[in-house]
Amino acid sequence: MEPRIGRLLAHNPSAFTYYGTQTYLLGERELAIVDPGPDLPEHIDALTVAIGDRKPVAIMCTHTHRDHSPAARPLAERTGAPIVGCPPLALKTVGPRADASFDGDYTPDRVLADGETVEVDGRPIVAVATPGHTSNHLCFAYGDALFTGDHVMGWSTTVVVPPDGDMAAYIQSLEKLRGRHDRIYYPAHGDPVTNPQQYVRHLIGHRMQREKQILKLVREKPRPIAEIVANAYPGLDPRLVTAAGGSVLAHLLDLQRRGLVESRGEEWIAA
Ligand SMILES: [Zn+2]
Repeated sequence: MEPRIGRLLAHNPSAFTYYGTQTYLLGERELAIVDPGPDLPEHIDALTVAIGDRKPVAIMCTHTHRDHSPAARPLAERTGAPIVGCPPLALKTVGPRADASFDGDYTPDRVLADGETVEVDGRPIVAVATPGHTSNHLCFAYGDALFTGDHVMGWSTTVVVPPDGDMAAYIQSLEKLRGRHDRIYYPAHGDPVTNPQQYVRHLIGHRMQREKQILKLVREKPRPIAEIVANAYPGLDPRLVTAAGGSVLAHLLDLQRRGLVESRGEEWIAA
């Protein structure tokens, strides 16, 4: 992508991953591998070839969705590098706190708190805590580039789905990026973002507009989430209806916390 920043695409395209997960290799003589990706043997082989004779010193995950972290352990075993980054997250695959998209096998060697660093060739990579998409999401700053994982993506808005996804936290984490001066974002999915400030302003505006729209629909009459989705997302790809329902729920829970809506059985009503 530029000196000291390489990118390798995993072959896991889908309605949620675009062309697939993009793994980044940061460094010159030493390397940090950001978002190793899904546990696909061909991707791990390709990463090993890309690493070449450079020395991996950290395998770093922005969060623990299954398209980001499962390759960490096999890559650590192959290279000897430690897994460093986001904390593990214990979500069950069944029950009220269930979310099957989480990697329950993720076991980091070192967890980075907000502002903590890893050094590669003597240059720091700084963890920037950005909860919202998931509660354990980190971005990584390297020079004036920010590796944004799924917090900010280059092709689509980010899915924020309860119970772990939190809309208020997500918007606060977008505001946090507005206070930074990054030159470029490298997301895990989609193209680099070369106008970060403008793009983040646009994302915040988009969520505000969505919230206004949901509030208006609920104020017209009590509605179930499916009806809000049908009204707020006309022409939506059927594969994304469940995710859109999750995002609407995330907005509703945030509005409920602020005393603007209430749930009544399956329906949501204005408070
Ligand atoms: Zn994700």
